Amino acid sequence: MYTTKYKLFRVPRNRHLKRKTWIAHTIWNYFLGWQRTRYSLGLPYMSYKEMSREFTILRNSHPDIFSHWRELDSWAARQVLKRLDLGYDRFFKKIAKRPPKFRSVRKPYSLTMCPSGYKFAVPVAGDKGFGIYSDRVTIMGKSYRFNLSRPIFGKIKTVTIKEDALGDFYMTVVTNHIHSHLKPMTGNAAGFDMGVKTMLTCSNGKQYESPHFYTESIDKVRTANRQLSTKQRGSNNRERARHHHARMHRKVQRQREDHHWKLALELVRRFDVLFFETLNLDGMKRLWGRKVSDIGFYAFLQKVEWQAKKRGKRVEYINQWQPTTSVCHVCKARVSLELSDRTWTCKHCNTHHDRDINAAINILQVGASTFGVENVRLAIASGS
Ligand SMILES: [Zn+2]
Repeated sequence: MYTTKYKLFRVPRNRHLKRKTWIAHTIWNYFLGWQRTRYSLGLPYMSYKEMSREFTILRNSHPDIFSHWRELDSWAARQVLKRLDLGYDRFFKKIAKRPPKFRSVRKPYSLTMCPSGYKFAVPVAGDKGFGIYSDRVTIMGKSYRFNLSRPIFGKIKTVTIKEDALGDFYMTVVTNHIHSHLKPMTGNAAGFDMGVKTMLTCSNGKQYESPHFYTESIDKVRTANRQLSTKQRGSNNRERARHHHARMHRKVQRQREDHHWKLALELVRRFDVLFFETLNLDGMKRLWGRKVSDIGFYAFLQKVEWQAKKRGKRVEYINQWQPTTSVCHVCKARVSLELSDRTWTCKHCNTHHDRDINAAINILQVGASTFGVENVRLAIASGS
């Protein structure tokens, strides 16, 4: 599976895509409403198969009310139902905390299509496309141009169209291409402590700060938000302020993602086995407040895992209840520390510790003994 994202050219024709995504939207809301009504009446959950059958019956028996459903190709419509079913399934299995929610009409919605819904143009001489696909795609009978920022490898499985808050359309292409970067292993293993002051502390003593743009751009978003709220509803000024606000948000998101990818790649290149603590986001939020969400640890770890998978490396998590901060990594003595103690000296073996580095080394040692790593050097800071 190989996923790439492309931006579609901004043209008036995109309104057709907007309409198609809106239709997908109404299907979602209709069936979600139905499921909720059934629930309140004490009726059992309607499975995907039943929903799919009802969808066809409704569409054929009420051509006047559901005429717009016909505009969408039926595979795409069923994909919406499938996703709704998946959302409920995650809720029943207690993976998700809440059942699926209604989608706001004003918020962008996405649309996934099967091979019959789109067609990529074959590149011709003088065309800007490279590889086997060109920079033009036909979606449900209408041709669109997109920025082919990187080649599409492999056979295309699905294409997803999504609009963002600024009205730009993006296309996510999933192919069956297997992307691997198998390079000689480095033979190193490291543990990482996550924190808010220092985003990551490596057991070899290196500290990765969370960049300043996090707080800087958050301020800008807040200002934009405040300006938006003072504008009169329905006015052009408000629309302009809304765009400004959305653009600020998008910028923060992109900066964060960019930073995450770069850091994840650096770590995965340097180490073969990476140990982290299982995230305890609720606990961290209690301790540090909303700054935790700004850093986005969960999204970061997902990127690390992805890069590791691609490069044949390992990411392992140790139990969050394992004591790592308040144990001396040299003599394993328990100590009691305040949150403000950044450095401390062990009373038993007289080692001077940096709080975060000591925690990272403990994570590494616990991980190495739990998961049994072989033929790797443990990266432990010498000064600590
Ligand atoms: Zn000690």
